[in-house]
Amino acid sequence: MSTRRKKIYEGKAKILYEGPEPGTIIQHFKDDATAFNAQKKAILEGKGVVNNQISAFIMQNLNAIGVQTHFIKRVNMREQLVREVEMIPLEVVCRNVAAGSISQRLGLTEGAPLPRSIIEFYYKSDALGDPMVAEEHITAFNWASTQEIDDVMALTLRVNDYLHGMFGAVGIRLIDFKLEFGRLYEGDMVRTVIADEISPDSCRLWDVQTNEKMDKDRFRRDLGNVTEAYTEVARRLGILKAAGAGESVH
Ligand code: UDP
Repeated sequence: MSTRRKKIYEGKAKILYEGPEPGTIIQHFKDDATAFNAQKKAILEGKGVVNNQISAFIMQNLNAIGVQTHFIKRVNMREQLVREVEMIPLEVVCRNVAAGSISQRLGLTEGAPLPRSIIEFYYKSDALGDPMVAEEHITAFNWASTQEIDDVMALTLRVNDYLHGMFGAVGIRLIDFKLEFGRLYEGDMVRTVIADEISPDSCRLWDVQTNEKMDKDRFRRDLGNVTEAYTEVARRLGILKAAGAGESVH
């Protein structure tokens, strides 16, 4: 990092710095990988760079089709400029195919298509291990309003449609993904927008032909070649900017 900036927050995979203008934030993608509520940790060289590129590409396309996100622009290999939002303390998971925790909880074979897309809510709390919650809990504890839950569900289904088509076109099956949302204050208006990131760290992506995993399960399950698989996702999406042309990956 060349300039001194105020760090606002450091998470497991990203750092947030004060942005150049009020109401903006710089989101910096680290190479750190964590799983199982940070019990498993590693540094995966280059992961932050590819996730920054993939997430920027997806968020930009979502903005372009009228699905509002916090994303403004990618500023370098590891950083993007985003709007400052008030985070809604939920992880919103959308599933098309059984895998991971739903397979374990409900005894579903991994890879079995679900009867329809299912949206689940988890309360964001590292101390509690992100417990699953119902709309009842969300409104009772004021984590989000009924209107916000409606907005979140509608936006999640639009993202699901978009991602399903986008990945399907390049031979990738979208199994499930996680979104986070924020409140964007504009004058006396508040809008619910997509925040955080959308990347192979937050999606399950399987090759259509081989069922090979191209997502964070490679790290969770010690399958190896994690960054390589993420890079293949970026390559298929046509967004891989070869490093070296004046830009360093670090
Ligand atoms: N997910 C995530 N962050 C989390 C938990 C889950 O990005 O803290 C993503 C995960 O990568 C997968 C989807 O949400 O794409 C559903 O995850 P699941 O509930 O099956 O949990 P997991 O098996 O990852 O523990």
